[in-house]
Amino acid sequence: MPTPASGETAPQDGAHIAPITDSHCHLDFPDFAGELHQVIARAGDAGVHRMVTICTRLSNEPQVRAVAETHAPVFYAAGTHPMSAATEPMVTADQLEALAAHPKFAGIGESGLDYHYTAESAAVQQESLRVHIEAARRTGLPLIIHARDADDDMARILTEEHRAGAYSCVMHCFSSGHALAEAALDLGFYLSMSGIAAFPRSTDLREIFAAAPLDRILIETDAPYLAPPPHRGKRNEPAYTAHTARVGAELFGLPYAEFAAATEANFERLFWKAAEWSRAREAKRA
Ligand SMILES: [Zn+2]
Ligand SMILES: [Zn+2]
Repeated sequence: MPTPASGETAPQDGAHIAPITDSHCHLDFPDFAGELHQVIARAGDAGVHRMVTICTRLSNEPQVRAVAETHAPVFYAAGTHPMSAATEPMVTADQLEALAAHPKFAGIGESGLDYHYTAESAAVQQESLRVHIEAARRTGLPLIIHARDADDDMARILTEEHRAGAYSCVMHCFSSGHALAEAALDLGFYLSMSGIAAFPRSTDLREIFAAAPLDRILIETDAPYLAPPPHRGKRNEPAYTAHTARVGAELFGLPYAEFAAATEANFERLFWKAAEWSRAREAKRA
């Protein structure tokens, strides 16, 4: 993949910058404190016209919501991350459903299973995951799933619960194995590509994405984590979604603008509430 010069993030092919969405970032994290206006402006310069900032502890929901209320391009999701499931109070579907009434509340999560560092809390994580699924079902909003080293349990629970009642879902920062990718796609879910897809060792992952249907792919940064090349090891930020989009375009053998447009259509289908909010705003301006 070509290395852009001096912090350049915008794509080179095409006269205009194709609009894209960072479907998963954490703008309330202290990494961005005092700099959020610049971070969001740089994102806009790179074509990232929309971001979803994700809550990792329900107790932080007011701060996450405040970012979305202050910045027009930002939407938000709320839930409790699996790595915090054991130390935070258990969420309830009623709680999530009530919070979801906010016009910029666009998704449920992040929730999921992470057995990499926190396998000892597997039972609590699973209980919390099922609560988030119930909230996704009730609200019709997409569930945002974090999965690490838990492929079998993840596929089993998502499938079991889907049988009990349908819901929509994105496997955020997808970096699990073939079987979980297949299970998720079979359920009609989406896979979100992060900077990990550009790491040299991610050969299997690139294969999984290249084999997936284009109409199920989203892109994200997971900022401040996981900066893609050429920024690897530094703080990540939403502007770098453009790097991931470029990797995706290469994988699918498409011009940048075409891949970008496909991920936009996918985002608007899944995160329908964010799309509705944007359309209403456009209508008001016209
Ligand atoms: Zn995550
Ligand atoms: Zn995250």
